[in-house]
Amino acid sequence: MLATGKTATNATGEPDGASKNRTTVRPVPRVLVIDDDSFVCQTMAALLGKLGVTQVVTVSDGPQAVHLLNESAPFDLIISDLALPKVDGIQLMRMIAARQQQAAVLYMSSAGRKLLDAAETLAGGRGLRVLGAVEKPVTLEHLRRYLAILDEVPRRAARQREGYEASPADLRKAIENEEIKVYVQPQLLARSGDLHGVEALARWVSPTRGVIPPDCFIGVAERNGLIDQITELMVSRSIAACGAWRRAGLKIRISVNTPVSSLSALSMPDIISEASQRRGMETEQLTLEVTESGLMRDAVRSLDVLTRLRLRNVGLAIDDFGCGYSSLQQLKRMPFDELKIDCSFVMAMLDNAESRSIVKSSIDLARGLGLRTVAEGVESLAHWQALAQMHCDVVQGYYIARPFPVEQLPAWWAQHAPQFRREIKAG
Ligand code: C2E
Ligand code: CA
Ligand code: CA
Repeated sequence: MLATGKTATNATGEPDGASKNRTTVRPVPRVLVIDDDSFVCQTMAALLGKLGVTQVVTVSDGPQAVHLLNESAPFDLIISDLALPKVDGIQLMRMIAARQQQAAVLYMSSAGRKLLDAAETLAGGRGLRVLGAVEKPVTLEHLRRYLAILDEVPRRAARQREGYEASPADLRKAIENEEIKVYVQPQLLARSGDLHGVEALARWVSPTRGVIPPDCFIGVAERNGLIDQITELMVSRSIAACGAWRRAGLKIRISVNTPVSSLSALSMPDIISEASQRRGMETEQLTLEVTESGLMRDAVRSLDVLTRLRLRNVGLAIDDFGCGYSSLQQLKRMPFDELKIDCSFVMAMLDNAESRSIVKSSIDLARGLGLRTVAEGVESLAHWQALAQMHCDVVQGYYIARPFPVEQLPAWWAQHAPQFRREIKAG
């Protein structure tokens, strides 16, 4: 076994436990590298060292890795080759998943992109917290980027694996007590860095459990007849916020996630027209984001409602484009004016030529059909610049801002506008 920096100290030279007691210091991740090529192991340890990651353990095969996973303190990140002697990377994946490791996993291989993608998908399917899959040689830039999102990417998967789901009774009470809040994530024009609008995202702000993400309650709402209430409150509060911003001189758009089932159940076109008038918002400032799976279920009724909404100038976005099936057919049939490229393609586009080409073709397709393109999952300036070069219209992602409470939007923009305009012009 080849080990580097195995002493239990972190980058600041403190003993392991010291940083855990201080919430302000981000703990240095503990990393396990698995590769049968000792040169790769040494290089990875050296690169990680340059990034301040000193707790790196390297092993050359699966059995050693499994032994460590059983015996040693938990790892935060496992970087594994796919082609390994004795136990290959896919078998090892099963063993890691069975041990319910908390670690995020990053695959590296020279076996080609297709295989890496398959491994990534498989690992995700087995409930592992997959950070990504990179073609060798892994560079300092790759590692820097993945370490930066180490805390974030795993969190969503972890919650899903924990299986936290609200009970329908609790959720019903939360709706009554107005604990479901509107958070927003800004969307900027890719070319100028100007504020185009925001996406409204639901959060359950519980007095006892804190902020609960939508993954933990939207599904419950859908299965228990509560989703229409959530849609209605998200739409009406979004319209109220947008009207207030407009009166304060900030005319921007707001997009709301809307299950197709809610659209027809709520006679949405009338509700929207009425609320917009009352709140001083123009209907063209509102966009409803719908996914294809919803459209598929009841295509004729969907078409009816969506067409009536478009007649009233409400925007319609096809959400998570590329993730469902028969996207092209839906695009042709339904009166969309915006296409949202899913996070998963955008986040991977800098390392993965196939994701990049999916993003590029989606943008070209949308432009050809006269639709605005919005890319979500913009996690770095490099993502933004690449998208601007591809003529994507609007960017959204953690690089610009994570979702925050709707009331904070004017102050956020006043503070950040100069920075984004400067950055994108300089780039
Ligand atoms: P979505 O519609 O695809 O929304 C985008 C999700 O991607 C949001 O997660 C957002 O925080 C996340 N995201 C944005 N930029 C980045 C990035 O740069 N990196 C990464 N890793 N993630 C990014 P969120 O808020 O947790 O929402 C998850 C999903 O829950 C949404 O996916 C949407 O499908 C659903 N949802 C949220 N709010 C509502 C709602 O009011 N009604 C309904 N029906 N569904 C909602
Ligand atoms: Ca959305
Ligand atoms: Ca999405």
